[in-house]
Amino acid sequence: MSEPENFIPESYPCNQCHAGVLQPRFVTYFTWLGAELITVPHFPAWICDVCGKRDYDEKAIQWLTMLLDPNAGKPTTNHHRTPPFPRPHPSAPRPHLDS
Ligand SMILES: [Zn+2]
Repeated sequence: MSEPENFIPESYPCNQCHAGVLQPRFVTYFTWLGAELITVPHFPAWICDVCGKRDYDEKAIQWLTMLLDPNAGKPTTNHHRTPPFPRPHPSAPRPHLDS
């Protein structure tokens, strides 16, 4: 009676090449956030073993989108915020004493 609708199959036939099987893998996901390239290691994805087609977990994508863009759904403001950037401590050059 209760169909497991949210059941995610471990592997399923590829709908692109119709020959391979998409296997669950953890990959490094690349996405652009503005001008910054974001890399997310160990991102859940399904990879076809024949054509290499990648399917990402939709929930993981949504989670990542929310994570990267906390203002999602809100009107965008043109506030230019400078991210808190840790200033490197200037290494004071030691005076070279030659006696
Ligand atoms: Zn395929």
